[in-house]
Amino acid sequence: MHVHTIHSYDGYCTLKEIVKLIKSAGLDGFAITDHDSIEGVKEMEGLSTTGDFIIIPGIEVTTKHGHVLGLGVRELIPKGLPADETVELIKERGGIAVAAHPFWLTGKPGLVHKAKFDAIESFNSRAYFLANRLAYEYAKRNRIPVTAGSDGHAPDEIGLAWTSVNCGRNAEEVLEEIRSGRTKTSGRNFPFLSYAKRGIKKGIISRWRGGGK
Ligand SMILES: [Zn+2]
Ligand SMILES: [Zn+2]
Repeated sequence: MHVHTIHSYDGYCTLKEIVKLIKSAGLDGFAITDHDSIEGVKEMEGLSTTGDFIIIPGIEVTTKHGHVLGLGVRELIPKGLPADETVELIKERGGIAVAAHPFWLTGKPGLVHKAKFDAIESFNSRAYFLANRLAYEYAKRNRIPVTAGSDGHAPDEIGLAWTSVNCGRNAEEVLEEIRSGRTKTSGRNFPFLSYAKRGIKKGIISRWRGGGK
């Protein structure tokens, strides 16, 4: 439910590579969630039929209060807005608003309190220490549906986490299961040292290109 393509400034994989990686991980599909871009979604729409493999359109919006996933969204949601406005826009466009890695350092504290989210990302392979446990416990305590995602940016990260649902093989039904809270989340972390190394390297490269964020 959380994968980055080359259309993210810090993404390494093309859409086709991701499809292959997800299939070889034994998963049935994934959600495209590039940083403030729907270029990957446009590319997906041009892809020839993928059979019953599920690709959910989406975006990861950088808000004033942290990262918000818009699952089922095909249009660009502007970045830099307060979280509650972003969540409203996602819902207006028929999407599901998910608080991404709400307790990890790349987010901002208090995201979960800033808006009425449809779901909380209770497992993210790039969130460490207590971050995932806090997210899971917050969601359970407040009866908010949960999703999991690798937040994969490179081949060795994609497929590390997944959301299980029991429904038909299409994006609409999967999104409905999430909205109704009928999901199970599972996965493992990308090794922390590799994560730290990759973050530093990409940070330097994107700054050098003038695209540092
Ligand atoms: Zn993020
Ligand atoms: Zn992400």
